[in-house]
Amino acid sequence: MDPLMKAFKLLTSNGIGFLRLCAECSPYDLADDGIEISLAKNYAKLADTLFSPCDSPRVQQDAIALAEDRQLSVNHLLMINKHAKKLKARGAAWKLRAELIAREGSLEEVNEYAKTRVTEEGGDTKKKPGVRLGRVIDGLRTISITDTQRRITDLEKTLDAGIKHDDGQPRSEALLEPFWDLVEGNGTGLIKPEYRTVIAIGLDDFAKVSCGAGDEVIIGLSDGTTMTGAEFINAAMEGALGDKLHVGLFHPTAGPVNLYEARFASDKLRTLAMAENLVCPWPDCNVPADKCQVHHIDAHKHGGHTKPSNLTMLCKYHNGVNDDDDPGKPGSRKRNSKRGKPKRGKPQRGRMQRHRGKVRLRTPGGKLVDNAHDLNSMGAMNLI
Ligand SMILES: [Zn+2]
Repeated sequence: MDPLMKAFKLLTSNGIGFLRLCAECSPYDLADDGIEISLAKNYAKLADTLFSPCDSPRVQQDAIALAEDRQLSVNHLLMINKHAKKLKARGAAWKLRAELIAREGSLEEVNEYAKTRVTEEGGDTKKKPGVRLGRVIDGLRTISITDTQRRITDLEKTLDAGIKHDDGQPRSEALLEPFWDLVEGNGTGLIKPEYRTVIAIGLDDFAKVSCGAGDEVIIGLSDGTTMTGAEFINAAMEGALGDKLHVGLFHPTAGPVNLYEARFASDKLRTLAMAENLVCPWPDCNVPADKCQVHHIDAHKHGGHTKPSNLTMLCKYHNGVNDDDDPGKPGSRKRNSKRGKPKRGKPQRGRMQRHRGKVRLRTPGGKLVDNAHDLNSMGAMNLI
């Protein structure tokens, strides 16, 4: 292994040992050793929390011993403490620290788990609907509105529809005039949602919803929102689903197979791809499918066909960075000829691939990664 990587591994597997060192000196001494002062202060604060006397000394002692045993990194411990310190009840923070330290999984997985645990323990203050007005800064003021996902998304769609010309100006700027037009009543008002947006629902759930028992069923929409079974039925009653209900047929390993009741081939393929991926499938992306582009998994120029299993939705950005010229594919440019080492220049980001039926990112290192977004697990392929 590269000595630099070795040193990094040594450091990251000795979080507790490193924090003990931090506890012995001031953050300013650490800064002298080349650590940024803001980071050094974070380390010092964490060391103080971990090693100072607390309300549950036994739990504390055991948890620290376990963290050392499990070779957790400083970042891992920082993440755990970020969540645990939200709990204010006596002994609650250390109890959660101990639980999270014992939790198997990557930093990201434990982070997700910790979020739900903090919510369960009542440590998070939930966002409240309302309109908030900021003070004047440099002659400008900010207004922020928090409301149900449905109402805000309808407002967003209305403003989007009002954009007059798009000269590549940032979206936030482009939305400003449509916003004032709406407020001043120079338009037709708020757009009523018309679900050309794709609704992904499994057959089992559809049966439940249809007989009125679908209140616990949550359905993902390709505009990035969710609705309950009851809301789905209401939308159907109001005719908001249109007179034609689109039904996608998906195979567990081959992916999308066919869409019934659609008129145009291109429309049909797009809709099918949207039902499969309600958000851009690139890891950590949250652009809803309604704002995505159709992407050929095997590039058209390399002979990839326009058929359902070769299509997915990708946001504009990830469609751009996707590495279409995969060195492993026949007919593509051989830029990685020397033992997979990329040429200098633009870093490679990997490419989309269909793997066991699902669209995943294959990293340049060959890892297959899913997008962990909530809606990504509500698309059609997760319903069968
Ligand atoms: Zn994306």
